Amino acid sequence: MSKSENPDVILIGAGIMSATLGTFLKLLSPNLNIEVFERLDRVALESSNPWNNAGTGHAALCELNYMPDSKDGSLPNPAKAVAINEQFQLSRQFWSYLVETKILGSPETFINSTPHMTFVRGAKDVDYLQRRFEALKDQPLFAGMQFSKDPKVIAKWAPLLIEGRTGDEPIAATFIDSGTDVDFGSITTQLFKNLEKSGVSVSTSSEVQGLNRLKDGTWEITVRDTNTGQRTYRKAKFVFVGAGGWALKLLQKSGIGEAKGYGTFPVGGQWLRTDNQALVAKHQAKVYSQASVGAPPMSVPHLDTRVVDGKASLLFGPYATANPKFLKNGSIFDLPASLRPANLIPYLAVGLGNFPLIKYLVGELVKTKEKKFESLLEFMPNAKSEDWRLLDAGQRAQVIKKDRKKGGVLQFGTEVITSADGSISGLLGASPGASTAVYVMLQVLERSFANEFDGWQAKLKQIIPSFGSKLSADPAVAAASLAATAKTLKIK
Ligand SMILES: Cc1cc2nc3c(=O)[nH]c(=O)nc-3n(C[C@H](O)[C@H](O)[C@H](O)COP(=O)(O)OP(=O)(O)OC[C@H]3O[C@@H](n4cnc5c(N)ncnc54)[C@H](O)[C@@H]3O)c2cc1C
Repeated sequence: MSKSENPDVILIGAGIMSATLGTFLKLLSPNLNIEVFERLDRVALESSNPWNNAGTGHAALCELNYMPDSKDGSLPNPAKAVAINEQFQLSRQFWSYLVETKILGSPETFINSTPHMTFVRGAKDVDYLQRRFEALKDQPLFAGMQFSKDPKVIAKWAPLLIEGRTGDEPIAATFIDSGTDVDFGSITTQLFKNLEKSGVSVSTSSEVQGLNRLKDGTWEITVRDTNTGQRTYRKAKFVFVGAGGWALKLLQKSGIGEAKGYGTFPVGGQWLRTDNQALVAKHQAKVYSQASVGAPPMSVPHLDTRVVDGKASLLFGPYATANPKFLKNGSIFDLPASLRPANLIPYLAVGLGNFPLIKYLVGELVKTKEKKFESLLEFMPNAKSEDWRLLDAGQRAQVIKKDRKKGGVLQFGTEVITSADGSISGLLGASPGASTAVYVMLQVLERSFANEFDGWQAKLKQIIPSFGSKLSADPAVAAASLAATAKTLKIK
């Protein structure tokens, strides 16, 4: 396609969401003309960058927030955990297809087996974890999960959790070796390289500043070259706003009614990281635990193996920080500039109705590195401050939305916003995030390509064999799918 022709599809932002959607579209409709615009000078520099997120292949194998305790001491309900795991299986299948078709390189470049563990202290949480295990152990997608209260067993799984631990406080852990560490930045970069090879134009240093619906129903976008300041205009029938934390800003610019009433609640993050290989060699797991009072669910600290560019490190965090930017490379005016008459009440209701969260964030803001380090000692009693560096993580942009009863609520999931005619779609929110990019982008395809979607079913089934069905409904099919993707992705 020559640059003077207008594309069929414009993708705004070069993170994992646009990369996934672009790849789907090229597989399903190879003749589509697609253009991508990214404001930074490379792709995958915001949340999808491996050092800005935790790289957990979120499958609810270890994260307690996807399966809160029951109120009456009965077994907690596994439905949400199973649903999150199902969503991750779509990603495993999609990535397997991309490895088999050589669109993605060898699996070690983006995914590595890393057991997922939950570690808790105190009688109440030990009891909860045991009941969580009872509720999950026979679920087909959680096969192989183990539970123990025995420090010796836990020390075999993750020695650093036990070394130096004194006292007789009850502890417990679950362990499952089908967990993964994923380099979402590597997936994003590889997918964009492949898209470019198949004719997609990817323009970096190109910030989309305007979105305007034309009389013929198409969208005109205004793009500013961030090096020269020059503006260009591009038109397309479909626009995807994959701008991460800035998605709300662009959806507001589009003027679509569907974006009204939404707001963004930014939560910054920091990690402690060590590259001390003696420590790295002793810890091969992602260990999640219980959240502190008031902490947002995605700020539950965890002690993680991270593999980036073939090199392993340990990461502990994220610590939540208060910061009004909606992107790491955003502006301190992001929050005030997002206020509109339609979202004022939701913003106020969330501010007033989430006092424990606000108190928690202010408390985190004033914590020194030493104070932050104390949380690591709860996981790893022998940790030495000199081994660890405090680094900034990515910025989370949580969804604030209208609520009839409360005026507004804070939502910790993601939400796809699509105009009534399907011509523009955007993604708000963060968690479970990159792990479920495939599930979320399938929703975009269904809503925005409603006329084509039925005709794409056979190809979608070829790409994702379980598409349209639930793996968890059939233990044999689930086991076969887990085994097939494990083989291709070279994971357990
Ligand atoms: C601290 C932290 C930990 C996380 N941990 C995990 C995890 O363990 N597992 C997991 O699955 N997910 C995790 N996530 C979530 C995950 O990182 C995100 O959900 C995912 O990366 C979002 O991808 P995206 O493509 O929507 O956004 P991004 O990767 O942020 O990409 C958006 C892109 O749009 C560009 N852009 C913005 N505005 C414009 C504009 N106007 N014009 C052009 N370009 C624009 C940005 O520069 C950016 O490159 C974590 C996130 C954070 C912050």
